[in-house]
Amino acid sequence: MSKFWSSRLQRTEPYVPGEQPNDTNVIKLNTNENPYPPSPEVQKAIQQAASEDLRLYPTPTLQELRQTIAEKFQVHQDQVFIGNGSDEVLAFSFMAFFEPGETIRFPDITYSFYPVYAKLFNTDYKVIPVNEDFSLPIESFYDAEGGVIFPNPNAPTGRALSLLEVESIVNGNPNKVVIIDEAYIDFGGQSAVQLVNRYENLLVIQTLSKSRSLAGLRVGFAIGNSQLIEGLNRIKNSFNSYTIDRLAIAGAKAAFEDEAYFEKVRKRIIDTREKTAESLSTLGFDVVESKANFLLVSHPQVDAEQLYTQLKEQNIYVRYFNKPRIQQYVRITIGKPGEMEKLIKETKHLIPNMA
Ligand code: PMP
Repeated sequence: MSKFWSSRLQRTEPYVPGEQPNDTNVIKLNTNENPYPPSPEVQKAIQQAASEDLRLYPTPTLQELRQTIAEKFQVHQDQVFIGNGSDEVLAFSFMAFFEPGETIRFPDITYSFYPVYAKLFNTDYKVIPVNEDFSLPIESFYDAEGGVIFPNPNAPTGRALSLLEVESIVNGNPNKVVIIDEAYIDFGGQSAVQLVNRYENLLVIQTLSKSRSLAGLRVGFAIGNSQLIEGLNRIKNSFNSYTIDRLAIAGAKAAFEDEAYFEKVRKRIIDTREKTAESLSTLGFDVVESKANFLLVSHPQVDAEQLYTQLKEQNIYVRYFNKPRIQQYVRITIGKPGEMEKLIKETKHLIPNMA
């Protein structure tokens, strides 16, 4: 490594995002995007914003969008923080709440960005292995020295904790911040947002990338006690006061205002998930119970990496993780029904004695 680089970089082991192919003919089931476009209101609002004030900086407090989110979740706007995708909100949270030298906990298996942030920000961490069925051993998260973070539903397993289980982890860490990453919560999980007024150590992070079809807009947010939000604001204001731009503000606001569209899309995805799970089970797959917009699946007669490669040859992209415990699995994002039918058809050809 060049001597001009900071020693911090020696600790990094960058997160590798899923593939983003340029070919538009690809059936893209590899990075948990929404197969449906955002609400038509979003495009209108962005066009309107583009024709107005791009000359000017956005309002750094993001007051209007914070108010929209606060109303939706029935909290005060001082309890809302907005960032450039939930990845940025997560990064700010690591900086704001996790002390170097105090060991935080997160599950193994989980979102692969957590160890990356921990290393970058010099946070010690202990991973808690998930159970055989990929559920979380709740009590192992109690009394963490430096705080806790986990996704609910978990990624890439899709398994969800009940609200009571989440609450018991929050309760089990009264003096430390517990961060629940709810990127996939709208596909069937129980959100912990309703607990934020009871627990001052609870921070819930969500995104518009999944259930609101806006991965390309980059908007994520956190809801919690106003003191936690103030902590995030301090990091933001020491770093980049304008986390999201005028187009993103307008688009996000419009997305929250079209609840009917949101409900329609998320129900469709849940319905497609259940049907896909059933079809894959019929083909002999082990399908991990999922409350997210993806399924983690394995087949006793099919090598997972080979399945990933062979589907890719057919222009169907799924996700393969070359990691212990999930090496025999692929993760399939839920697409449109027609896309899932093609996936099932191609997969069938790859199972011995089924073709
Ligand atoms: N958390 C989890 C668990 C995720 O899977 C993702 C998406 N890869 C994110 C957070 C980040 O999403 P975004 O930055 O698009 O909001």
